[in-house]
Amino acid sequence: MLAESHFYFHKAADVIGLDDKVRTILLTPRRSVKVEVVIEGEDGELQTYNGFRVQHNMARGPMKGGLRYHPAMDEDHAVALANLMTWKTAVVDVPYGGAKGGIDCDPRHMSERDLFQVTTFFVEQLKEIIGPTTDIPAPDVNTNAKVMGWIMHEYSKYAGFSPAVVTGKPLDLFGSEGRDAATGRGLVHVLGAALEEQKKSFEDVTVAVQGFGNVGSNAALLIAEQGARVVAAADSTGGVSNDGGLDVPALHAWKNEHGRVDGFPGGEAFENTEIIGWDADVLVPAALENAITEDNASDVKASLIVEGANAPTTPGADQILNDRGVAIIPDILANAGGVTVSYFEWAQNIQQFRWDEARVNRELDKKMSQAYRSVREVATEHDIDLRTAAFVLAIRRVGRAALARVHYRTEFPF
Ligand code: NAD
Repeated sequence: MLAESHFYFHKAADVIGLDDKVRTILLTPRRSVKVEVVIEGEDGELQTYNGFRVQHNMARGPMKGGLRYHPAMDEDHAVALANLMTWKTAVVDVPYGGAKGGIDCDPRHMSERDLFQVTTFFVEQLKEIIGPTTDIPAPDVNTNAKVMGWIMHEYSKYAGFSPAVVTGKPLDLFGSEGRDAATGRGLVHVLGAALEEQKKSFEDVTVAVQGFGNVGSNAALLIAEQGARVVAAADSTGGVSNDGGLDVPALHAWKNEHGRVDGFPGGEAFENTEIIGWDADVLVPAALENAITEDNASDVKASLIVEGANAPTTPGADQILNDRGVAIIPDILANAGGVTVSYFEWAQNIQQFRWDEARVNRELDKKMSQAYRSVREVATEHDIDLRTAAFVLAIRRVGRAALARVHYRTEFPF
């Protein structure tokens, strides 16, 4: 995964003629920490896990990035995803660097009490290196507002009242209005901008969504609200389709009640692997990385892909899709709404002041519009695809901030 995320960096670095040493400096994490997480489970058995936190770059501000609880989590994932966070925060121009972490546990097979134990143990191990001005975790796959609340509470035991140490917290515990739906909302905003460029509206398009968790379900709800037909949705349990358009609020309620899209009575069931090749105008991969690969890229029928997940498209697949003229709004732009509202939450925590939801959404829309425009300008300037343009924009911003902090005699071609 690391090599893949670096591939896009190098492609953009080639466009601006970045030399090898600067590439190494910008790619190398500032700090990578691995800890052993040990708890006594509810069954009285000892459980051990590996916890990771990779702090990639803080040239533009404190490092920011999610915490993922997943059996496949490892240092390689954390480094790659921390890198992406550095570029993502730069694309939306929020005053942060990048970080990422997680634990290789499987919450599907753990009690809530054990998850709580794992989380507090992890915070105890990391308390010296996270904090409101150094590294601010947030939710990612299999972590949510509840877990973030536990983190705030545990960290505050050591550092005093510190709501700004973590974002994506419950509303009752200094979370922000609008944070839950923010990634989906930001995604729908850039999808709207792309459709506008193509002189289309939401009513003109059909959409297939892979992943029906935080990002996928919120994106699907808003896409349907805008008037597009969501014709297929899939999660890890299966898929459901309806050519006339799924009743997305009903599917959302079903998923909340049953924990899966499978079995939803308002559509036909299908194997979740089919979603990538679904006959729809727009494909939203919002599950995990490497969903679109060289093996299935030629199955894609959509003419526009909006990446809700981080790194859902491998470089080989990206090339195939670019050659076929399929437009891709890349992850570091399309899913940056989450970190943007995380920034609003952090700012509210520091000011001890609460914004209402309308203000959060208005500011989010403004940030996403600016980011889309800036990426489009770079794409036009260099005649490159949106992903490469987003990386060029981010590398420039991070590189310039890093340079402005020190005195070097070397001039860099940013
Ligand atoms: P989540 O755990 O809430 O949801 C993940 C969804 O993907 C679940 O519905 C799961 O069933 C589904 N899924 C897993 N494997 C699948 C498969 N093989 N086929 C179809 N569906 C599958 O996680 P999330 O927070 O929605 O995150 C999803 C992606 O978005 C991740 O890549 C994450 O890094 C990225 N992301 C999340 C946020 C955020 O604010 N939550 C922000 C930016 C990026």
